[in-house]
Amino acid sequence: MMLTEDLIAIEARFGANNYKPLDVVLSRGAGVHVWDTDGNRYLDCLSAYSAVNQGHCHPKILAAMIEQAGKLTLTSRAFRNDQLALFYEELAALTKSHRVLPMNSGAEAVETAIKSVRKWGYEVKGIAEDQAEIVVCANNFHGRTLGIISFSTDETARKSFGPFLPGFRVVPFGDIGAFEQAISANTIAFLVEPIQGEAGVLIPPAGYFTKVREVCTANNVMLILDEIQTGLGRTGKLLAEEHEAIEADVTLVGKALSGGFYPVSAVLSNNEVLGTLKPGQHGSTFGGNPLACAVARAALKVLTEEGMIENAAVQGDYFLQGLKDIRSNVIRDVRGRGLMLAVELHPQAGGARRYCEALRRSGILAKETHDHTIRLAPPLVIEREQVDWALERLTPVLSGMN
Ligand SMILES: *Cc1c(COP(=O)(O)O)cnc(C)c1O
Repeated sequence: MMLTEDLIAIEARFGANNYKPLDVVLSRGAGVHVWDTDGNRYLDCLSAYSAVNQGHCHPKILAAMIEQAGKLTLTSRAFRNDQLALFYEELAALTKSHRVLPMNSGAEAVETAIKSVRKWGYEVKGIAEDQAEIVVCANNFHGRTLGIISFSTDETARKSFGPFLPGFRVVPFGDIGAFEQAISANTIAFLVEPIQGEAGVLIPPAGYFTKVREVCTANNVMLILDEIQTGLGRTGKLLAEEHEAIEADVTLVGKALSGGFYPVSAVLSNNEVLGTLKPGQHGSTFGGNPLACAVARAALKVLTEEGMIENAAVQGDYFLQGLKDIRSNVIRDVRGRGLMLAVELHPQAGGARRYCEALRRSGILAKETHDHTIRLAPPLVIEREQVDWALERLTPVLSGMN
């Protein structure tokens, strides 16, 4: 077996340098835990950016994957497969959607939503060709493709990748007045995250999305909620939109849709947006394949049947309170909803990265977002004793380091 340092050196030698991971090489996972190549166990407080909500290697999803992999994996959409209809039916029933368009990565779901809402804008709303505008938020994160970074406000994500796609207007997140002002006769949609995850788990003011919904309806603007990270139980509800009892026109899900086994994403629509797409206008070789559908069906089933969403609400409240109880002069803010939690440090603390390194040494894997925020988002199967275990280790580290 190769040494951990050798594996890291090989990565540095042959891999593109587009990530800066913690130097922990993982080789096994089960539930909330992962193990490194030296056999050390960690509590996973990132859950692959919420793709592993159901816990690592969930046995029922694994069984579904193995069974389907031995039967049929890929047909392309040139032919039908016997899993797609069931995936559609179950996902639509669960999310109360009318139509589903399956893709693979989250970014593809975002791109698909942009394409279909533009088409809706021209063919249904009657916008002049090439004039459609989509409003987005500052500090958004919707993925890494060229179309998506065209409306990012993160210089690191954009620098030297232009020219960019036009047709977007940026407003501050959580500011309803700015959103209303940004709407023109050519506005077709508002694309927004219910909670800005990559920006540091930023929760908008209460009532913001209720107003957003009203403004969108009044102006015939499609509300596209990117729930790729907030969806599927992470915030203690199936979809984060439920916190304000609203319904998006278009909802994007991905990540935990497969429980981390396989890239599966989907665009959900409760109106005519997806209906504008005709054969040949959009597609994906792997989108909707039988393996993806079987895995996603199992991932959704365990999420609901095993009470993971309720558990996220209960353990999330408990974890949040425990974090708030930590006495520390380096903590600036503690916030979260469900098991989407964050600890923001004062700039004088010297950056969240070294706190993540220290947490790693005490058995917790977490990742900084931007410079000063530590995100804590364990799998939704976490138990109260495991939250206590985490708090026992977080407390000394967050109480201050020099
Ligand atoms: C992760 C993420 C995406 C992109 O998903 P990929 O599968 O990495 O392409 C889009 N939107 C949000 C909110 C995300 O968290």
